[in-house]
Amino acid sequence: MIYVMLGGPATGKGTRSEILSEKFKIPHISTGEILRVAAEKNNAIKQKLSNGELITDDVINELLYIRLSKEDCKNGFVLDGYPRKLDQALALEAMMRKLNMIITEVIELVVSTEIAFQRILGRRECPSCGKSFGVDFPSMNGDYCDECKTKLVKRSDDTEETLKRRIDTYQKLSKPILNYYRKKGILRTIDSSNHPEKVLGVI
Ligand code: AMP
Repeated sequence: MIYVMLGGPATGKGTRSEILSEKFKIPHISTGEILRVAAEKNNAIKQKLSNGELITDDVINELLYIRLSKEDCKNGFVLDGYPRKLDQALALEAMMRKLNMIITEVIELVVSTEIAFQRILGRRECPSCGKSFGVDFPSMNGDYCDECKTKLVKRSDDTEETLKRRIDTYQKLSKPILNYYRKKGILRTIDSSNHPEKVLGVI
């Protein structure tokens, strides 16, 4: 099973990907997470992430190919945060050919801008294990991570101004990607305003 999750910021890609990953016992691969780890050793990436700018294709394509080549992806994966533009959709197609893999389905999650803002402003993340908590999915330990008990923090790119820029970027760049997958007949669009478990029922 290879799922590609599309959707603007705060449409719930991370949470929904995690649910699919657990259901099908396949890894959840988030390019945002791969880049946040890479940013710890690379200031240029760190700067771009803080500004909400896209990382260049050569960098992300290489990091993603390395990740998808790993043994745990052999039975499939849920890809979250990639492709973000048509060139990346074409690069993913090339990676799939090289790895002898076929995308099962592309799922586009949609929410209103109002809900996206509410979710972003309520979102916090564990700096140690990367688990994300929000209005739909609060931590049972208040300000601390459910998994590893580390104090939760806000992501540096979760600000109102950065969010506006990320929504604009998504709307501008996603149309050709959606058309590309629609033509291939593998695109499904899902209203993601509901609680994740209800969305899971739809998936
Ligand atoms: P996300 O966790 O998916 O919201 O991604 C956080 C940030 O990582 C984005 O705002 C971009 O700066 C960067 N990023 C994630 N995925 C990609 C990608 N496919 N191409 C370029 N930059 C990306």
